[in-house]
Amino acid sequence: MSADALTTRSEDAGKQNLLGMSPGGLVRFFEDIDEKPFRARQLMQWAYQRRVLDFSEMTDLSLRLRERLGAVAALRLPPVKSLEESADGTRKWLIDVGAQQAVETVFIPELNRGTLCVSSQAGCALNCTFCATGHQGFNRNLSAAEILGQIVLASLELHPQRITNVVFMGMGEPLANYKNVLPVIQVLLNDHAFGLSRRRVTISTAGLVPQILRLAEDCNVALAVSLHAPTDELRDELVPINRIHPIAELLDACWRYAEVLASRQVTFEYVMLDGINDSLEQARQLAVLLKGKPAKVNLIPFNPFPGTHYRCSPTHVVDAFMQTLWSMGVVATVRRARGDDIAAACGQLAGRVDDRRKVRLGDKLIGVQSR
Ligand code: SAH
Repeated sequence: MSADALTTRSEDAGKQNLLGMSPGGLVRFFEDIDEKPFRARQLMQWAYQRRVLDFSEMTDLSLRLRERLGAVAALRLPPVKSLEESADGTRKWLIDVGAQQAVETVFIPELNRGTLCVSSQAGCALNCTFCATGHQGFNRNLSAAEILGQIVLASLELHPQRITNVVFMGMGEPLANYKNVLPVIQVLLNDHAFGLSRRRVTISTAGLVPQILRLAEDCNVALAVSLHAPTDELRDELVPINRIHPIAELLDACWRYAEVLASRQVTFEYVMLDGINDSLEQARQLAVLLKGKPAKVNLIPFNPFPGTHYRCSPTHVVDAFMQTLWSMGVVATVRRARGDDIAAACGQLAGRVDDRRKVRLGDKLIGVQSR
């Protein structure tokens, strides 16, 4: 069945959407309608492993239960507005989330893996100066169904190609939408659902310290942190949330996270901005922060978008920056831009967002003295 056919059933409107419900939430749902808890497992297997979203096709459920489910619930995907494919095989879906808002989801095929990059919010409130999503402003958090819906949609359309990795690096700050992101992670990790290992699910954050510590307790998936600057002075400007949670506090939370992660590293993302954060002195400062810690650096060549005044550092500068990190004992790689011909690369995702904030975070925080 095509994803399109599944998204447009208007008779489902108003029924409870079971898509994206946590495994525990599904058990409670079935208990509430006087059914056995193992029904949750069966439903997840149908929806997430066999990609069947129509209750009437779930043949190991009794006919009575199938009819009951059809009457009160649905597995509803968000509608797709468009799909673009890049010359390098990257695909980008524009997903309609209602009220004229749209978010983007990107699939990046590689030799031995297929990575899906999902959005967690319509827009973003964090206002990082080099990010297209940040420039658009913030509209709202996506629901768990809208976040997981991106993954189910893509897996339906990509089949038999498989999604082996999921990264929360699309539009939005996933840790600012913690309550809806957590059930999605639980479904991704559950053996009766997607069954991905923790290493294959990555949360990328601009640095929401309390939520990093919470995530360590709740489900310690791989963590990527958008560092982008080695000093508070520069990071205050590039990533305004730094004025609330400065570098020392952020790194402290990262090392605590890594302890729970047991022998795994935290990835530090560092966008290469020409003449801003790419000097060898800054590479040395970064190395001092990370040396001897469970850390690796992922250098991201800046991807331009309309209206930005930043430029990407030249290739030889990126290489020299990386060499400096290596020479001081810090592991570093350069992220290759994928899908930039369809504006699907890091930081280029813009979807369609009407800003609903009165004041931007950067302006609101002017003068915040957090240290
Ligand atoms: N809010 C999360 C997820 C955002 S996007 C976070 O901040 O981590 C994932 C990565 O792309 C982040 O590291 C982000 O800083 C980076 N990024 C944003 N804009 C970019 C751009 N124009 N070019 C390259 N990378 C960018």
